[in-house]
Amino acid sequence: MKWDEFSQWGEKISQWAAAYHTDLRDRPVRAQTAQGDIAAALTTAPPEDGEAMETIMADFERIVMPGITHWQHPRFFAYFPANAAPPSMLADMLVSTIAAQCMLWQTSPAATEMEGVMVDWLRQALDLPEGFSGVIQDSASSATLSAVLTMRERATNWRGNREGLSAMGRLRIYCSDQVHSSIDRACWVAGIGQENLVKIGAGSSGHAYEMDTSALAAQIKADRTAGYTPAGIIAITGGTGIGAWDFLSDVLKVAKDEELYTHLDAAWAGSAMICPEFRAKYWGGVEGFDSIVFNPHKWLGAQFDCSVQFLRDPSQQLNTLKIEPEYLKTSGEAVTNYSEWTIPLGRRFRALKLWFLIRSYGLEGLRNRIRNHVSWAEELCEVLRAKEPFEIVTEPILSIFSFRCPGDDAVQQRLVDAINDDGRIYITQGMHEGRKVIRFQVGQFDCTRDDVMLAGDVITEIWEQLT
Ligand SMILES: *Cc1c(COP(=O)(O)O)cnc(C)c1O
Repeated sequence: MKWDEFSQWGEKISQWAAAYHTDLRDRPVRAQTAQGDIAAALTTAPPEDGEAMETIMADFERIVMPGITHWQHPRFFAYFPANAAPPSMLADMLVSTIAAQCMLWQTSPAATEMEGVMVDWLRQALDLPEGFSGVIQDSASSATLSAVLTMRERATNWRGNREGLSAMGRLRIYCSDQVHSSIDRACWVAGIGQENLVKIGAGSSGHAYEMDTSALAAQIKADRTAGYTPAGIIAITGGTGIGAWDFLSDVLKVAKDEELYTHLDAAWAGSAMICPEFRAKYWGGVEGFDSIVFNPHKWLGAQFDCSVQFLRDPSQQLNTLKIEPEYLKTSGEAVTNYSEWTIPLGRRFRALKLWFLIRSYGLEGLRNRIRNHVSWAEELCEVLRAKEPFEIVTEPILSIFSFRCPGDDAVQQRLVDAINDDGRIYITQGMHEGRKVIRFQVGQFDCTRDDVMLAGDVITEIWEQLT
């Protein structure tokens, strides 16, 4: 492709993008295609001769678009959001254009230096103390795996990487039963094993569904007596199922008594901690954690992928992950090479979208959105509570709550599926205390109060059609 043709298509595609977002409310939120539809529409073999961009783009609209679930649809209330505010999208277009691989300081000093400054902007926005530094990762799963590996190395006196785990005894990691599956997977991959990830039951004082820290302390003591080696504790702010949040100071007290490394998973809820009132309610004591992860690519508005891991003492993670073969050595002064902080070597320039996003809206603009989402979720929860057949199962935690309609678990799923087949809104289910619940979360960047209130009408209308 010649660059003048690139320029014409670049213009067309950015016009297409603006029109797509402007008219998004007219599309069904969840893709309405059946399994295999899209694969069947693609040619089975690659072309021998090049094709015109007109043809490729026309096929994109015809074949690909019907098979897209619209995460940027303002009535996306499923899972958690994956926002992409327009300025962050523009930044990512620039990043795609420059296409630099930013593994070392010298492979693009601007990327490394901006990453350090953006992590510090967010540190200030979250009111974490000076001294925390951090790194931008692709996902919370990777950040949590890095933290679990650090727990493992620290607990084996930095011998695990060198000698393997066969002679290291059985390590154990502790968390509540409300954590995300990425924590289980991190323990599988790190060689800790599912059986040595001990999930402590959650209490429910004040609807937090927090880890029972007396049970945690007792379990750690019992494990030491039985010959296990406790390695770390993972706490959560905003669990995936219903938004559970641990009482951080209580968790940290146990960690301190037992001298354990601590990691906090705030992948979704961390964005809301830029609001002082939520920070005060949910994050008392947070500064005591060794590692904290949150995803600006969820609620804050940075285009996927962008996950920030804060570290109180990065040398522990560097001692775990840093490797320096000759071909990666750089001469001159000591510099930060962020690939030494993470598992993948190659890195995208992820800081630029944060710079565009935060400058474009300001922290106050971002806070206002989050505050609106929380208050609209609370309002819809009251609307559903007041409607006869629905039962609120878990109260709003930030912008998530869960409910049930009359009937067994199969009926809950039938209602969820019927709502998503209708297409005006998109919601998903979860499990809570052994029962299926219908989750509702508000967090899409362009969502309005009307969108949330319409969801209440859709839920009622589809329920009435089912019965
Ligand atoms: C989304 C989420 C994750 C996983 O995030 P990825 O960035 O997709 O790996 C982990 N924990 C919690 C609480 C989440 O909400």
